[in-house]
Amino acid sequence: MIKLLLLALCVSVFFGGGLVADACPRKVVILLGAPGSGKGTQAKKLQAIFNLPHISTGDLFRFNIKEGTPLGKKAQEYTNAGKLVPDEIVLDMLFDRISKDDAKQGYILDGFPRTIPQAEALQKRLEDKDLVIALNLDVSDDTVVKRISGRRTCSVSGEVYNIYFAPPPKERACKEGELIQRPDDRPEVVQERLKVYHNQTEPLIQFYDRLGVLVNVDGEKDPGAILTELTRVINEKIESVR
Ligand code: AMP
Repeated sequence: MIKLLLLALCVSVFFGGGLVADACPRKVVILLGAPGSGKGTQAKKLQAIFNLPHISTGDLFRFNIKEGTPLGKKAQEYTNAGKLVPDEIVLDMLFDRISKDDAKQGYILDGFPRTIPQAEALQKRLEDKDLVIALNLDVSDDTVVKRISGRRTCSVSGEVYNIYFAPPPKERACKEGELIQRPDDRPEVVQERLKVYHNQTEPLIQFYDRLGVLVNVDGEKDPGAILTELTRVINEKIESVR
């Protein structure tokens, strides 16, 4: 009865400094889509709107590579070649990240899962009450190639621009640093990443569809319209379990 009431109000109860009852469904937002489909751009905005951490396995690898950690050293040869990092390595890193305090109420996954075994491992970690929302950003291969060839990241702020479609504003054009191209955004690597996407990641669309949690979104629209659509869908799903 108390659990039902808590669920209805979606509140967490703390006692003596510890969490004793948490009936709120954890929100697990999964962004699916090819490289360059806009997952990262949208996840950054959704993080602020829903107050959930944005967890990008690609960013975690890039951070570890930059810092020269043992994990980064293991991942580098795969990321530079546009190949997937082996599942065991990704899963250890991801599970460690989602066990952090800031992910207790949920999280937004960007770039994970990328294989069926990764998706199955995540499902095993989740609880029945968790609210899983898989959003697929649908874009053509042509769009991917165009977007990725223009993608540049500010070496200092980490902000992502596109020199063709979303150039940095002149007055704050990454003044402290320089705009750099990710090594795996080079044209020869992009083709490999697309191949890997179609072979190993695209089957996840059907995986989440079978679970009844998939929503397809037109990723060719402008970023503002896509954000409005994603926000609407997530709100609707949250309301449906209240
Ligand atoms: P992203 O920034 O999401 O495009 O990821 C960049 C690279 O990191 C990918 O091309 C992979 O080499 C690696 N990576 C990121 N996420 C995963 C994942 N879930 N599984 C395997 N490799 C990954």
